[in-house]
Amino acid sequence: MKNRIQVLQRRFKSLGIANFLISRLSNIRWLCGYTGSNGILLVTGRDAYFITDGRYKNQAHEQVKNAHVFIYEPYKSMAESFIRELKINKEINFRGRVGIEALWMNVNFAEHFKSVFPKSDLISTENVVEDLMMVKEKSEITSIRKAVEISDRVLAEVLPMVKPGITENDLSAEITYLHKKYGAQKDAFETIVASGHRSALPHGIASGKKIEKGDIITFDMGCFVDGYPSDMTRTVVLGKATAKQREIYAIVKESQAKAVEAIKPGRKCYEIDSLARKIISDAGYGDKFTHGLGHGLGVEVHSKPALSGLSKTTLKSGMVVTVEPGIYIEGWGGVRIEDDVIVTEDGCEVMNKSPKELIEL
Ligand code: ZN
Ligand code: ZN
Repeated sequence: MKNRIQVLQRRFKSLGIANFLISRLSNIRWLCGYTGSNGILLVTGRDAYFITDGRYKNQAHEQVKNAHVFIYEPYKSMAESFIRELKINKEINFRGRVGIEALWMNVNFAEHFKSVFPKSDLISTENVVEDLMMVKEKSEITSIRKAVEISDRVLAEVLPMVKPGITENDLSAEITYLHKKYGAQKDAFETIVASGHRSALPHGIASGKKIEKGDIITFDMGCFVDGYPSDMTRTVVLGKATAKQREIYAIVKESQAKAVEAIKPGRKCYEIDSLARKIISDAGYGDKFTHGLGHGLGVEVHSKPALSGLSKTTLKSGMVVTVEPGIYIEGWGGVRIEDDVIVTEDGCEVMNKSPKELIEL
């Protein structure tokens, strides 16, 4: 792992800041390697300081790279302890502009900081570290690839378990179990198993509903390996598919394939979204595709760049995105197909190997 803190420091000039307080945990993780659930990182022009509480003492000393580690005392707030440490440390000068992550900074912390360092200016920023993370390093892609392989293997093992009477929750529990059994740390998000009319819910997490013959079933599943996720959706039918199920499936499949075909360096994210959306709109279901085409995949399952109509980001080699069009018809059901895709030098590579033909179980 290269020194990512230095990569951030090189951005200070253009951001017009002298120091940067990082509070989003996934950004802290990416910058210095810490995986715990509490902490804050200060990056100065020349150095970096990380603070967390006593529960993470050993972990922080083991994991944190390229930053000094402070552990704060029990019964004192993080803001109070960290700010006191910063005050004692004469190397740090807070007379200048201090960047903060506007979407993640705790208001209490910011107010306390301001009262102790009245000469500092807190400057709101957005997506500074998130932007640095978009193009993946080789090791990050290796981890995502492993996670994708595990999810492919798990789905292949779970599909034969789909029988009338089994519940969505039963299937989701099997997915969680098998993810871990095959080496994942945990599920990347709460598994979606949405059957029959419930498949019309784009985020229908598994319920106690029993699977019935004729149900269309959406599986949206993923797992973490070394802190990096997979995220895959497949839609299947229990029994023989109806003409309508085939029709909707074929439209989504074509939309997904056309989007993947178009992904290459230099394309804008919104162009890929609109290509996929056009196929669904031309088929008459434009208003049933109710979300963006996909999202970046990184230390957060939903990372940058978004493959959405709003994103003007240009695709670059090394970015990893999901491609997941869907059609959702209330009272009838829905279909979504999702793959994880790496942008390569001259196009892209779909990592998932799970079949995309309509599977009738
Ligand atoms: Zn998904
Ligand atoms: Zn997704």
